[in-house]
Amino acid sequence: SMSVVGIDLGFQSCYVAVARAGGIETVANEYSDRSTPSCVAFGPKNRSIGAAAKSQVISNAKNTVQGFKRFHGRAFSDPFIQDEKNNLAYELVQLPTGLAGIKVMYMEEERNFTIEQVTGMLLTKLKETAENALKKPVVDCVVSVPCFYTDAERRSVMDATQIAGLNCLRLINETTSVALAYGIYKQDLPALEEKPRNVVFVDMGQSAYQVAVCSFNKGKLKVLATAFDTTLGGRKFDEMLVNYFCEEFGKKYKLDIKSKIRALLRLFQECEKLKKLMSANASDLPMNIECFMNDIDVSGTMNRGKFLEMCDSLLARVEPPLRSVLEQAKLKKEDIYAVEIVGGATRIPAVKERISKFFGKEVSTTLNADEAVARGCALQCAILSPAFKVREFSITDLVPYPISLRWNSPAEEGLSNCEVFPKNHAAPFSKVLSFFRKEPFTLEAYYTSPKELPYPDPTIAHFLVQKVTPQTDGSSSKVKVKVRVNIHGIFSVSSASLVEVHKSDENEEPMETDQKEEEKMQIDQEEQQKNEEQQQARTDKPESEEMETSQAGSKDKKMDQPPQAKKAKVKTSTVDLPIENQLLWQIGKDILNLFIENEGKMIMQDKLEKERNDAKNAVEEYVYDMRDKLCGLYEKFVNEDDRNSFTLKLEDTENWLYEDGEDQPKQVYIDKLTELKTLGQPIQARFQESEERPKAFEDLGKQIQQYMKIIHAFKTKDDQYDHLDAADMIKVEKSVSEAMEWMNNKLNLQNKRSLALDPLIKTKDIHAKTKELTDTCNPIVTKPKPKVEVPKEEQNPAEQNGPVEGQGDANVGAQPAEESTNTTAPTATEKKLPEMDID
Ligand code: ATP
Ligand code: MG
Repeated sequence: SMSVVGIDLGFQSCYVAVARAGGIETVANEYSDRSTPSCVAFGPKNRSIGAAAKSQVISNAKNTVQGFKRFHGRAFSDPFIQDEKNNLAYELVQLPTGLAGIKVMYMEEERNFTIEQVTGMLLTKLKETAENALKKPVVDCVVSVPCFYTDAERRSVMDATQIAGLNCLRLINETTSVALAYGIYKQDLPALEEKPRNVVFVDMGQSAYQVAVCSFNKGKLKVLATAFDTTLGGRKFDEMLVNYFCEEFGKKYKLDIKSKIRALLRLFQECEKLKKLMSANASDLPMNIECFMNDIDVSGTMNRGKFLEMCDSLLARVEPPLRSVLEQAKLKKEDIYAVEIVGGATRIPAVKERISKFFGKEVSTTLNADEAVARGCALQCAILSPAFKVREFSITDLVPYPISLRWNSPAEEGLSNCEVFPKNHAAPFSKVLSFFRKEPFTLEAYYTSPKELPYPDPTIAHFLVQKVTPQTDGSSSKVKVKVRVNIHGIFSVSSASLVEVHKSDENEEPMETDQKEEEKMQIDQEEQQKNEEQQQARTDKPESEEMETSQAGSKDKKMDQPPQAKKAKVKTSTVDLPIENQLLWQIGKDILNLFIENEGKMIMQDKLEKERNDAKNAVEEYVYDMRDKLCGLYEKFVNEDDRNSFTLKLEDTENWLYEDGEDQPKQVYIDKLTELKTLGQPIQARFQESEERPKAFEDLGKQIQQYMKIIHAFKTKDDQYDHLDAADMIKVEKSVSEAMEWMNNKLNLQNKRSLALDPLIKTKDIHAKTKELTDTCNPIVTKPKPKVEVPKEEQNPAEQNGPVEGQGDANVGAQPAEESTNTTAPTATEKKLPEMDID
């Protein structure tokens, strides 16, 4: 069945939310932690991902990769990469493609990995977390990305999801995800025809600061504008503290901290802790690190006031994006219903203050600051999944940067261009453009305003529209090109078709009269494709090509097209044209498949290594457990010689585990454990027997006594038993005295025997004896008393076959099967698809 999973891929930590019958739930990882560090560590035998990797940040610094979220889709030469690479403990390299990758030691070899692969590894872990929670395989999911990501970054994350074997139904903008998590639960949103409710969402995380203003009506969310500072985040505040203490400790202790990456990493960890403490505490706080560098302990102090002062330049960057979204959306502060803040860094009191001061109102913290993004992702996944019934909720996102097309235009002798999606245009969205051409042509898509782009290359892609031919009469053909920003916020030329004209009347004007518009382009029509996009993700059906062909519309004015009144009556048909894509930094299908395959191999390797470790740990555990017990619980159950030699063997094994046995194949550990167990097993069994034996004898004794009581009652003519057969009762008496003799005999022999020897009598034999006794005696003594004449009206038919009074509670062994049958009716659990009610 389909999984409904949302993943917040954060710079510092990730969250996974799932939809279940009960609603949306953020799930915990194997450490019972709902946050999983965005960290991957490489070792000689395996990878560690998440918390296990985080713990290696200092001990395995060069091979522990973190802070890679923002390297997606970037060249090694990218100024951002060049800037970041000096502050990393691990190595960034230029891959053959020109992209930035990481270089680590893995499996005792130097290996390069792409950022898609590293994020793929992280996603593998998050996928497992979701699978453990849902107890079923996870494929479908929704993953969040910063709202300012360009196409190259988005496509890179999409590739990462594929490497992890995920089917990403939507890459959703983090702020949109938060808005969805906010809006879908709101019962009191204005009706569709009423004025919408405007809410500002602010997210400051570890690496970036994002703001979105959204309008809400019942069942409807529209992102009006976004603004961001792509480098303002919690880590910038940590950096301020780190720089301060580097200088302070440098002077005080004569240390060059920045020259030693491990010391620097430790200082970063300590400064982050200090920063968090300062959010709750305004007084002076100590900063102490033992054995910091060159065995020197360092100490200093900091307080909130001082911290604020040194973060003044950072805090000044809080306001501009807030101002920007209002300006873009043409809203005044008074038009804002609420300001919802999420993201860890919004917990810094000064950040919160700046936001609330700007809007002149208290900020709201109704959403879970850490989990809102992931929850929104899971909600979006539920909306897109047929497995869940979710309240209707439409989401209209936007195009953050204006997108233009450029093409070579022979008629205009040079390059022509056209902005196809202005800034803040609704998305997802499709438009159809018409070109008049005789041969194949290339469309170059690019971001119109490189200056506002937080990315060094405005190129999006080149699309070569192939197999374009002139009309049969030699004139230009009309080529319809569909461009779209899809559900992931990625631009593409999604289809192209050639309109073939078949004249129906030979006398009509020839097509040549259209020469004027040759090589020109027109935007024919546009249509919001949102529902289509959602439908498509839901059913995986090929995209519907049906589009309304209305020529009327405001865009017509721009079309530079003469009136068509004298046009001939013509029949047309369309032919689909192939498009060749050259997407900026896109990795090829074959390489992606190789990455998918390699990820599978690494998952298998990790699994094998885990099993090997588990086998080793089992030996270690057995050694410690057995050594403890040999001089404790098991002491009496083994003779001195055997105990000594076994103890010695355990000690040898312990030493072996630290020496030759440190690093052996799984089977060696399994064999070693078997060998130890051959020695330990008999001791353990003798102990076990002696634990269970008294109870077994006691049970047999109780049975014997029960029957002896009945024999006595029968002999003394108790009317409860006077219906029993005398010959049968002699049989009972014989069995009882035989069992008693057997028991006394065995008890005597066993009591005389040393506990260090295997017992003469096994618990299971005692149980067998008990069964033999009851099998013989029970049918005789439980024989029902013959029916007594009861006046009709008092007769209760249900009791007729019941146990004879007085015997029901006698507890004389096994009851006949029919009576002991538990007649609980099987519960008819209806198997239906889970339905989630969002309330
Ligand atoms: P991004 O959104 O940039 O991808 P992320 O989602 O991993 O990153 P968050 O988990 O939202 O980031 O926030 C992490 C940041 O919040 C860190 O810098 C962390 O130190 C900071 N932070 C968390 N709690 C507090 C606190 N109480 N006071 C100050 N800062 C805090
Ligand atoms: Mg975040």
